[in-house]
Amino acid sequence: MNGINKPSNEDHFSVNGNDLQIFQGTLIHATNDHPLLILEDHVIGVGQGKIAFVAPSSELSNLIDRHGFQQNEVRQLQKGNFLMPGFVDTHIHAPQYVYAGTGTDLPLLSWLTRYTIPVESKFKDLKFASLAYNDVVETTLKVGTTTACYYATIHKHASLRLAEIAANLGQRAFVGKVNMDTFSPDYYLETTQESIRDTEWFIEQVRELNCPRVNPIITPRFALSCTSPLMTQLGVLADKYDVHIQTHINESLDEIASVKEKFPGYGNYARVYDAHGLMNNKTVLAHCIHMEDDEVSLIKERGAGVAHCPCSNFTIMSGVMNLRERLQQGLKVGLATDVSGGYSSSMLVAMRQAVIASRVHSISLTDGKEHIPVEYHEAFRLATLGGSEVLGLSDKIGNFEVGKEFDALIIDPHAANSPFHVYDTLYTDTIEDIVQKFLYLGDDRNIAEVYVGGERVKPRT
Ligand SMILES: [Zn+2]
Repeated sequence: MNGINKPSNEDHFSVNGNDLQIFQGTLIHATNDHPLLILEDHVIGVGQGKIAFVAPSSELSNLIDRHGFQQNEVRQLQKGNFLMPGFVDTHIHAPQYVYAGTGTDLPLLSWLTRYTIPVESKFKDLKFASLAYNDVVETTLKVGTTTACYYATIHKHASLRLAEIAANLGQRAFVGKVNMDTFSPDYYLETTQESIRDTEWFIEQVRELNCPRVNPIITPRFALSCTSPLMTQLGVLADKYDVHIQTHINESLDEIASVKEKFPGYGNYARVYDAHGLMNNKTVLAHCIHMEDDEVSLIKERGAGVAHCPCSNFTIMSGVMNLRERLQQGLKVGLATDVSGGYSSSMLVAMRQAVIASRVHSISLTDGKEHIPVEYHEAFRLATLGGSEVLGLSDKIGNFEVGKEFDALIIDPHAANSPFHVYDTLYTDTIEDIVQKFLYLGDDRNIAEVYVGGERVKPRT
């Protein structure tokens, strides 16, 4: 439900005035009815990390009476600034941040062998892992990613270190110790028993951090790097601990052919995961580019979500996912950077490339069928609310509904060294223009403040 334009009793929950942070200005967010709703001159109250009320400024005196705060406690956003929900990156490889922006010259399977495996194997060194993981969490927070769904590596201690760093720096995260007991050189491989034992240890250790915002996620790298016994036991673990699952599927044609060869008799790639207990409503499936009808039906039936990674798909030339078709098929879709198949850790880049990828279908790939390209409004929805749905967090984050946690960004279009300009004399940008300029041209210089669960994580106090 929206519940924002028409304040009612449901739009408030009671929080003592002393515990409230109140912002006044323009809010933008996605709802079920609007991919990008702009609410000018509104107030939003945050108490105990959650959104306590959202209402037009005309309601301010009623809100003061109801919640017992003072007018001077209301923080006015600077003219032109606006609040938006934080970005949800549904698929990112934290160790690959080290070589992001390089190694962009090979397709998937050669890229894995040439670049990925050698770099990921270095994360056995906890000192190196700590350095790199600190960089990736700091960088993604800086560019507004308040929730990230991370792949780590096969190393359990380094993977736990990533979870600790996310918890310490205040990012909401799923963290996965990668599982691979085949299809990798000996120096970066585990036995089936080690993989299961270390994954169980990892799940328990992450839970012992007692940080509700950081959770373990079962992470079979993809079907080619896992034996059937490993996948079966991972399915059992997912069930036992009631944890999320993430993996890759239908990314490149070579990969799909190899999966069919390795797992004959299952029919298709999605059914391989399903037969091993890895396909349910807590499963996040990266890519889903080349899909058979049966796979779409199965994924929809199981309630799994799709992490669309357009930057990666272009960069390592895996294909161009038909985003409009996935949405029309009724699949849950979020956006992802897929660092470092995707060269950028910014969800702004993922949004822009999602729009371009959809236009590519309109221009050349539809075989004469009508195709309505996805526009920036919808990309915004997918990068925020859509991602929260894919990760099963839409009751907690994704937009500014009352009761959700306050994961938010303050955007400053007039920031020093802003990569774009706003005009308010002679030529006047509307608020829609300014929002669009930020989404197309903005970067971390425009992301003045970042909040996760009501706590400011950029700049840190
Ligand atoms: Zn990936």
